[in-house]
Amino acid sequence: MIEPTDDQIEVLKARHLCTACDKTGVIKYANPDTDAVAYSPCSCVKKYKNAYNMLVANIPAAYQELPIDIEDAKNNEENKQGLQLILKYITKLDDALAKGIGLYIAGVPGSGKSFLGATILKVALEKNYKAYFTYIEELITQGLAAARIGHDAYTKFQNYFQNVDILLIDDIDKIKTDEKDAMILSTILKNRYHAGKSVIITASRPKARFIHMIPDTQAIMEERMFELSLKVSYRPKALTRTLSEFFNE
Ligand SMILES: [Zn+2]
Repeated sequence: MIEPTDDQIEVLKARHLCTACDKTGVIKYANPDTDAVAYSPCSCVKKYKNAYNMLVANIPAAYQELPIDIEDAKNNEENKQGLQLILKYITKLDDALAKGIGLYIAGVPGSGKSFLGATILKVALEKNYKAYFTYIEELITQGLAAARIGHDAYTKFQNYFQNVDILLIDDIDKIKTDEKDAMILSTILKNRYHAGKSVIITASRPKARFIHMIPDTQAIMEERMFELSLKVSYRPKALTRTLSEFFNE
């Protein structure tokens, strides 16, 4: 749940709008037929909107600038099966979101789970879906804070997480087995199951070892989340390219 502040919007404009439009996002020109002044959106607006959407979707800064490019995944032999399923999910994204189908990405630390999940969300944003990326601790902290404010704030929190088109919960098995924490998460997952909304989960444990930790979430986990596992550490080219580009320029 992020509503960008005026300051954040100014930063985005300064970074992404160009000088051709004098950072207004609008190009002023004379209509050749009538000579009247006309306006058209500058091509930089797309970059600005994209950055704005990623901010609202809480995509970690480290992944925001990276291109949506996991084609090299196809050549990663050890993780081949899991990575191909992610590529397939991206290809069938509209269908997946219409049916509320999600993924449970289990993998060793450093296997690129969060990067791959963020990439799925970035594709969804480009297709004009509403997406949200959250670390489990961050999600629970927001829920507890809303509950402390009162009933309306907590309802607003739950409604937001029920309605966003695609939700990614990162490192879900880092949740404390505290009753309150478990209830916040189980309510979100149950609501999304009933609303037919997709969830992407990343975890270090396989589904079978996590599923019983959070009550009443078996339905969404078993019926709507396809499990795949990444067995070895994988650094997508997109993550390492920036560094080599910097020194080779
Ligand atoms: Zn411009």
